[in-house]
Amino acid sequence: MQFEFSDRLNKLPPYLFVEIDRAKRKARAEKRDIIDLGIGDPDEPTPKEVIEFLCKAAHDSKNHHYPLDQGSSIFRDRIARWYKERFQVSLDPEREILPLLGSKEGISHMPMAFINPGDISLIPDPCYPPYKSGTIFAGGAPYLMPLIEENDFLPDLNKLNYPTLKKAKIIYINYPNNPTASICEKGFFEDVAIFAKKYNLIVANDAAYSEIAFDGYRPISFLKVEGGKETGVEFHSLSKTCNMTGWRIGFVCGNEKIIAGIAKVKSNIDSGVFNAIQMAGITALDIADKHLERMNKIYQERRDALVDGLNKLGWIIKKPKATFYVWARLPEKSKSSIEFAGLVLDKADIIITPGIGFGESGEGYVRFALTVSKERIQEAVDRLKKII
Ligand SMILES: *Cc1c(COP(=O)(O)O)cnc(C)c1O
Repeated sequence: MQFEFSDRLNKLPPYLFVEIDRAKRKARAEKRDIIDLGIGDPDEPTPKEVIEFLCKAAHDSKNHHYPLDQGSSIFRDRIARWYKERFQVSLDPEREILPLLGSKEGISHMPMAFINPGDISLIPDPCYPPYKSGTIFAGGAPYLMPLIEENDFLPDLNKLNYPTLKKAKIIYINYPNNPTASICEKGFFEDVAIFAKKYNLIVANDAAYSEIAFDGYRPISFLKVEGGKETGVEFHSLSKTCNMTGWRIGFVCGNEKIIAGIAKVKSNIDSGVFNAIQMAGITALDIADKHLERMNKIYQERRDALVDGLNKLGWIIKKPKATFYVWARLPEKSKSSIEFAGLVLDKADIIITPGIGFGESGEGYVRFALTVSKERIQEAVDRLKKII
């Protein structure tokens, strides 16, 4: 049989980590003591209150049916209350909030509702990959906006030219940012909203890391700024906020027309989030403050151990104010991020992610995830000392 992949599948950016994946598998098969700073998946368990509520809700047969397309109304009400308290943003739970099977699901489905063949999505580079793949699956083309250190890893909107902007339908932004761990000020959100209004763009702010922040910094909502709700939506997730990556639960909030488009796509593809998980999501929002206070302290200590440790070895890294990543420029003599990550795995049994994997402008950097204990991070620094 001759099966061919579709053009849209063939158009996806190439997967660059084949060599590193092979080396990882080999290292694991050889039972080497690997320190995995590669994956953005919290190592701590989901809070027990959330698990207990899931168990209770799973026993309730009312929760065994297909969920409503628009999600449970009590979960939506709870999200509205959380948004009000956390961001001082008022949302209509009927029309401005939609639960998702994890935010990745909504992020990648959104272009299907708004992109026609030939249209463009403006996408930061480096970035979380689904912005690109969602656009490509919808028949559109990603147009990359470089995030460079000299510009505090913010896209330079003035560099976008008119022919591009005429075809652009969506602009993705992501603060606090993965992979660069950078943040933005309110002024940037305001600029984006003005820009979006001028060129009739949909703003999609990926706020997956809005709750992982340090040193007293509290990220704001894009929907809070003037023109925010008029131009955009914001994606949230309980994955990082409450250590629930495996549960698949998130939500999108904001402009009602955009939400309606995403909801229509979804109602033709999936049938929503298991009701018991939506109920557990309510508990997660109930306990989020207490849980986050503990987690952010843990991440902050790990961040300090890694950044202080690497800086003692001669790196020059500023402490990020949010996310559980550290984005570090490669040491002088290394040729490429893939080569450096390979060396670190070979010689020190440490997994880190090469920046190029997030896009061309990620070259020259590597990403460390703070998802192992402080002791293991210290051990990683000791091992790096021997090889750099
Ligand atoms: C982890 C992550 C998400 C969250 O994905 P879920 O599908 O909600 O688990 C979204 N955006 C970015 C940038 C992330 O790193």
